[in-house]
Amino acid sequence: MNKEIFLCAICNINSGTCNEDCKFCSQSVRYKADIERYKQKEMELILKEAKTAYASGALGFCLVSADKGLNEKTLSFVCSIAEILTKEIPELRLIACNGTATLEQLLILKKAGIKAYNHNLETSKEFYGQICTTHSWDERYATCQNVNEAGLVLISGGIFGLGETLEDRLSMLESLKSLRPISVPINFYHHNEALELHPNPLSVDEALSLVKLTREMIPDAQRIMVAGGRELMFGKRQSEIFSHGANSIVIGNYLTTSGREINKDLDMLKSLGLKIAKAVR
Ligand code: SF4
Repeated sequence: MNKEIFLCAICNINSGTCNEDCKFCSQSVRYKADIERYKQKEMELILKEAKTAYASGALGFCLVSADKGLNEKTLSFVCSIAEILTKEIPELRLIACNGTATLEQLLILKKAGIKAYNHNLETSKEFYGQICTTHSWDERYATCQNVNEAGLVLISGGIFGLGETLEDRLSMLESLKSLRPISVPINFYHHNEALELHPNPLSVDEALSLVKLTREMIPDAQRIMVAGGRELMFGKRQSEIFSHGANSIVIGNYLTTSGREINKDLDMLKSLGLKIAKAVR
């Protein structure tokens, strides 16, 4: 089993304002999900969340915006956050997750202090048209290539439990492997009644086998991260993700749903004899 676990926290710097139609996403304005919506989170609050995350052992802090991609306003907002956080908590590794991005935009983020960019393929190229019609899978793939070209650390993964087949899962994992991500976040669909998709049909055993499959199919990734949907998907069995190949988790709240209390996660790691990673390899 991996002995060091990398902790990451996410910060929704704007919320619920996206015009795209990703069928799994409660942040799309199209589905009118009952979530908090705001344009820009206050800097003071972002800084407070970053300090809490770092004090809890998180090395990664991900700045997420709900939009199809970077525009001038978001780019400048993320850069100003990055500059402040780099000064205040230099040890924290800043990750941006702001949708599709050009090489030029990514280079600007890098200059501002962003170290890694998270952009998920979400699912297979073949299945993608059934979960999103307003932008293409190819655009997603191209953004990941831009991240590599910009010299930022690529974080890319997807979501299981959307109604995809085993072939789709294998296809997505092959595509991810071809992008050589350093970290692969895997999410498990968390159903919201405002969304059209059917609830996640996966059993805990199936979900654990998908963690294992991801680890086996992308052996060069430094981290397999179990991200959104962990508590809902695995319940009392969530400690088993580590013996199936996961070595990274998101702590604290997710984008639109609550996570477990951070102390419970820290206690779980301690009881398993797992150490919290203190530095990024
Ligand atoms: S582009 Fe991102 S924020 Fe917008 S609906 Fe799709 S997943 Fe949600």
